[in-house]
Amino acid sequence: ISVLFCRVCFRKPENSGQPLPYIEPSPVEPDFDMNDLKILELIGQGRYCNVYKGVLNNREVAVKIFAGASRECYNNELDIYGIALLEHDNVLKFIGSGERKAEDGWQEYMLVTELIHCGSLMSYLKEYTYDWHAMCKLAQTAAAGLAHLHLAATKEGEHKPAIVHRDINSRNILVRTDGTCCIGDFGFAMKVCGSSIVRDGNRDNSNITDVGTVRYMAPEVLDGAVNLRDCECALKQVDIYSLGLVLWELATRCKDLYPGTVPPSYKLPFQDEVGLHPSFAEMQVLVCTDRGRPAFPDEWKDNHMALRSLKDTIEECWDHDAEARLTALCVEERIIELMVLWDKHRSLTPTINPTSQNTSVTT
Ligand code: ADP
Ligand code: MG
Ligand code: MG
Repeated sequence: ISVLFCRVCFRKPENSGQPLPYIEPSPVEPDFDMNDLKILELIGQGRYCNVYKGVLNNREVAVKIFAGASRECYNNELDIYGIALLEHDNVLKFIGSGERKAEDGWQEYMLVTELIHCGSLMSYLKEYTYDWHAMCKLAQTAAAGLAHLHLAATKEGEHKPAIVHRDINSRNILVRTDGTCCIGDFGFAMKVCGSSIVRDGNRDNSNITDVGTVRYMAPEVLDGAVNLRDCECALKQVDIYSLGLVLWELATRCKDLYPGTVPPSYKLPFQDEVGLHPSFAEMQVLVCTDRGRPAFPDEWKDNHMALRSLKDTIEECWDHDAEARLTALCVEERIIELMVLWDKHRSLTPTINPTSQNTSVTT
């Protein structure tokens, strides 16, 4: 489904499966006793990793296992998880890391994080539909997680630089059982400060815009026209474009947006236009040349305030002009307003049962 263009932290090796010739100062001691970690069933697969459910000291955890060839991604994630003040309800929580020799003799690397029971937002969207308020909660918490990453902060002598994610999509956002989201997969995340990238170690950061999932790539990324003079702003705007697509995905599964019928089954953004395996060139034509964006279905034609504001918010995230896009904080605030607007709309609509919190609109 996704194609990766990355010259930053990971080169797809020709001899896939074998470790890259990477010079590491010294082996990293695990943060926990490996004997205390039990690895159970496979719960997710990413581009380079398998994610397993595990148990560490009687606590359920997720264990992301990187093969040797993906070591750069592992190091990058570790680096991000090591940033002070990163912790936030809507950011996946890090527990520990370690490495071991796999059965085939190659070294593999493990990231242990909290287990998020509902898995990825994409798998959640495939399975469930929900009402307006539940949609807003998913959207607001995802935006809050991104806003926290994007924020540079100093507190009690500790400093958190701004972080850009660079691979926001519905697989890298996870859903907790309480219906809130958290952002995970920091394989391509980067610390940024104004026009400079905060670099550590010996990574090749020569091309900072060639990563992500093509389907979710902003037009300026597809066109190679990211404004690197202010890469902090520019890369945040790239994240917001992708967030806009995620908001569209969220809206397509909201029962309240399909009065009198049911939401259609889940589709990826642009699935109608380019199918399941778009090439970089196809996305470039669609998103840059034709300025295509996912369509709003006919059911969303009703222009009551709440729905109009939702559509405006989505459109202001995926605006062709990167500088016109909302900030993550602004998206979060808009979504909080959407909850209020919906209640107003409901109170004015006689067909809605005012006594029930979760009733969808029926006509
Ligand atoms: P990759 O970097 O290879 O894309 P991800 O970190 O995105 O790997 O994880 C791949 C998939 O595994 C996710 O899309 C999700 O379905 C699942 N997953 C990852 N982390 C967790 C977690 N902490 N709890 C539950 N599921 C997870
Ligand atoms: Mg991922
Ligand atoms: Mg990744």
